[in-house]
Amino acid sequence: MSHPGTLTEHGFDPHFLNKYASLMAGGNGYLGIRASHEEDYTEQVRGMYLAGIYHRATADDINELINLPDIIGMRIELNGEIFSLLAGTIVEYRRELKMKNGELLRDLVWQSPLGGRYHIISRRQMAASPLQLVISQLEITPLDIPCHLQIMTGIDATQTNFGRQHLNETEVRVFEQQYLQGSYRTTDNQQEVVITSYCQLPDNVRSSFSAKNRRLMQHIDVSLESHHTFQMSKISWVASSLDNGYSAETFATDCLNHLKQQVQHGYSTITARSEQCWQTYWQKARVELDSDQPQDQQALDFALYHLAGMTPAHSELCSIAAKGLTGEGYKGHVFWDTEIFLLPFHLLTQPKIARQLLRYRYLHLQQAEEKAHRNGYRGALFPWESAFSGEEETPEFAAINIRTGLRQRVASAIAEHHIVADIAYATVGYYQATHDHDFMRQEGVTLLQKTAEFWLSRATEVNGRWEILNVIGPDEYTEHINNNAYTNYMAHYNVQQALAFMQQYGKIDTAFEIQANDFLHRLYLPEPDDHHVIPQDDSFFSKPTIDLSRYKAHQGSQSILLDYSRAEVNEMQILKQADVIMLLHLLPELFDAQIKAANFAYYEPRTIHDSSLSKAIHAIIASQQQSELAYQLYQQACLIDLGPDPHSSDEGIHAASLGAIWLGALFGFAGLHYQQGELHLNPRLPIQWQQLRFPLNWRGQQLFFTLTQNQIQIDGVWSEPLTIYIAGQAHTITQPSTINRNENNENCYCA
Ligand code: BGC
Repeated sequence: MSHPGTLTEHGFDPHFLNKYASLMAGGNGYLGIRASHEEDYTEQVRGMYLAGIYHRATADDINELINLPDIIGMRIELNGEIFSLLAGTIVEYRRELKMKNGELLRDLVWQSPLGGRYHIISRRQMAASPLQLVISQLEITPLDIPCHLQIMTGIDATQTNFGRQHLNETEVRVFEQQYLQGSYRTTDNQQEVVITSYCQLPDNVRSSFSAKNRRLMQHIDVSLESHHTFQMSKISWVASSLDNGYSAETFATDCLNHLKQQVQHGYSTITARSEQCWQTYWQKARVELDSDQPQDQQALDFALYHLAGMTPAHSELCSIAAKGLTGEGYKGHVFWDTEIFLLPFHLLTQPKIARQLLRYRYLHLQQAEEKAHRNGYRGALFPWESAFSGEEETPEFAAINIRTGLRQRVASAIAEHHIVADIAYATVGYYQATHDHDFMRQEGVTLLQKTAEFWLSRATEVNGRWEILNVIGPDEYTEHINNNAYTNYMAHYNVQQALAFMQQYGKIDTAFEIQANDFLHRLYLPEPDDHHVIPQDDSFFSKPTIDLSRYKAHQGSQSILLDYSRAEVNEMQILKQADVIMLLHLLPELFDAQIKAANFAYYEPRTIHDSSLSKAIHAIIASQQQSELAYQLYQQACLIDLGPDPHSSDEGIHAASLGAIWLGALFGFAGLHYQQGELHLNPRLPIQWQQLRFPLNWRGQQLFFTLTQNQIQIDGVWSEPLTIYIAGQAHTITQPSTINRNENNENCYCA
């Protein structure tokens, strides 16, 4: 395996400050830190987040991932001039994120307004182990004249979530004239965070400490000869009351002791240790391409870099936020994004993580049952947005309309119920790819049963059939509609699978069986019309269409809402994101090629792709038709974060879209699917790709696939025969094998 590459920022541009702070953010699933610069810039949003550490600032607010006290900031003075890239001249500049090991490097030469040149290098990394550890290094070399260097850095608790302060400072201390420690409690006293930092300095350096206005700072003062390099490391331990082994009495002391142990190792030992963990990860997960277009490989590496950083693999008490741990967008909440866009990657590379993500839902069944009950339903109604407690966290209102002063009500919590079936779908997928009976017998079956019970109570009998009324499907531009095709088919699948698995594990009860069978026979499943198009919902076809090209040209920006109110958009055939197309992706075996082609042709022009969860899914369906558009859509999907828009990712990366980059390569171009229990591949590589290689963990077997236009090579260690369907044809393989394309039939491969 070759190494994942780097993401490079070639020049400093203040317009891109927050985009790069998100793109180059570091994370280890436990802790995430935005790639803000050491020095301050007015518009720069710093951010450090711990998975699961949420808080509600006031009774009118909702829980949000807390932006913790900052440890990255440094005020650097060089001969009395404050270092800032907005002053003086940038002689050289390069910043890069090394995706192979998560190290962020900035290397620059700055000429101050008074003329002195300085070479400044900074490095930073979140340790892959132990997860609480953050380490950075700074080197400064005056290139022309001697320098009086002053640095102020420490723990800055003036940090807020855009003005909302969640933490009380409970104690600040300096131990042994070298260790800084700040202890903080959420204002409701529920969570505690302790940050301990240490600056490793050359022997001759003087420093002093101050604690004022929520800033615990170390002031470093040093005189440097020209061409002499000053080097310091800052090592921090960031821990919270969610950590294992937490004891309120000894917490702060424990943190201090942990830090002291790590300080002995130093920067290079800690980074070498991290690099090893990253290497193991890339071996299990990296998708490699031989492509005419190098940016495709970069997009895949970028996606997988962040998929690792955003995932709390250490704990089943939290799940993955819509922006990972890279920003405050969506308040750090968890959506269906996790089960449908992110979980498949984990399932087929590190199945234990997929299990944990499902356990997160399982552990919050009680809250989901209570939500169902409150709304007059049975079973489990999972929250549309959730955080740590498992309660519904969707804000009641969206941003204020500054012209009318009114706030638009957010209806997702009361009507976007497909998340229930999405969780069930992921549960079945987990079983199919792992055959983990232990999980399925208890947690899996319970999740299926409770979600199915919800649908049985959610359906309404209308003229002798079951209908699902007043929902929002995945397309959030179409609200409060009846019989959304996606929702109805997924609910049907949910109940069908619950029945099957409850039978398989002997957990069926007669009342459920009777009701479920009736639901399955009489649930209305919207059929394709004469043109093979499935209506998105009961009223969709009766609505007018408009030319969407100008909005599609600015997709992702929701610019349509500047010209039309949401109510007006609701009354037109306008999709924010894949809806029926999403259904075709999730349940591909229910629909033939003609239906897929007709629906793609119908819905693609009507879809703006204003959600980042859309394009790659359209690419998957287009790839099944060998359409040129597939690759175009895929490449555009790869640009959601990586594209030229300076503000696309200010509030964090788009986690689901990164999962979808992986989905597009495997479910699209490799033609992977497994939901029915058989492993299928049907490669249709874009002509720009000569080879696609990826590892896959299938029922405990670690496999490696190499696909070309004409061949599939399967390597791995065999514990039992593997049955795999290539373009629909079964092959049972007991050793590494190569399967060739049959010359007579484009779609048929044989051994
Ligand atoms: C999309 C949802 C998604 C959410 C979080 C919204 O814009 O419409 O489908 O779950 O973003 O990513």
